[in-house]
Amino acid sequence: MKYALVTGGSRGIGRAVCIKLASMGIPVIINYQSNSEAALETQRLIVDAGGRAELMQFDVTDEAAVTNALDNWENEHPDDYIAYLVNNAGIRKDSMMFMMPDSDWHSVIDTTLNGFFYVTRRVLPKMMRRRHGGRIINMASLSGLKGLPGQTNYSAAKAALIGATKSLAQETAQRAVSVNAVAPGFIESDMTKDLDEEELKKLVPMNRFGKPEEVAALVGFLCTDESSYITGQVIGINGGLYT
Ligand code: NAP
Repeated sequence: MKYALVTGGSRGIGRAVCIKLASMGIPVIINYQSNSEAALETQRLIVDAGGRAELMQFDVTDEAAVTNALDNWENEHPDDYIAYLVNNAGIRKDSMMFMMPDSDWHSVIDTTLNGFFYVTRRVLPKMMRRRHGGRIINMASLSGLKGLPGQTNYSAAKAALIGATKSLAQETAQRAVSVNAVAPGFIESDMTKDLDEEELKKLVPMNRFGKPEEVAALVGFLCTDESSYITGQVIGINGGLYT
């Protein structure tokens, strides 16, 4: 059985991705860091709609916890493997760089970049061995493409994730594993709820923030067989906001 693992699947974009993939008939592993209530709600929404989902708690920045959780899962699922990996967990800790504390620099890079590394490295061997159309989708950001003031940590982490996406895509192409990045603009979620949406949406040609379900639809497409020749790409989803 081919499973999907979605990091940060408890809330926001990750929850919408879990629901979308489950609606496509893919059993989903919902990873979360600490909000078990939100993770359970994601699972309930999937199961109520007739899908399959299980929870997997770990902090993506904790290599031992990642390895342990995935080792346990493989022991309990000897005939299954993770064919779809969505590296979605991310945090934002904005401030101007001249007053950014070390901890805000490191935690943002740890979550986005080291989290991607630990989880992907652990999942890759089986995915490549199967040669069965594996999919890795990395949640980047418009901020990693154009940079945004107050986000040197976040922009650096997302730009690095884009670089890693392009490298890894070339390493795995011959094993039929595609690796792509999705780069959303402003999307409605807990991460953006403190922003002045009325003001910021004026920057967006479509004059609104995007919805998590709109990002999930793109991730869903990247998990279909129809997307098999797309790899190493960064696909923007931003209502026309780029420059
Ligand atoms: P969100 O609503 O704040 O949700 C963040 C998710 O990440 C939660 O499920 C959280 O788990 C999980 N998470 C955070 N740190 C983690 C860790 N160390 N280990 C495991 N899970 C962790 O964020 P969102 O807006 O949906 O964003 C999802 C992704 O999209 C992020 O990578 C973000 O950078 C990217 N993005 C968002 C936007 C936007 O406008 N919203 C735009 C561009 C890119 P808990 O529930 O347990 O805390």
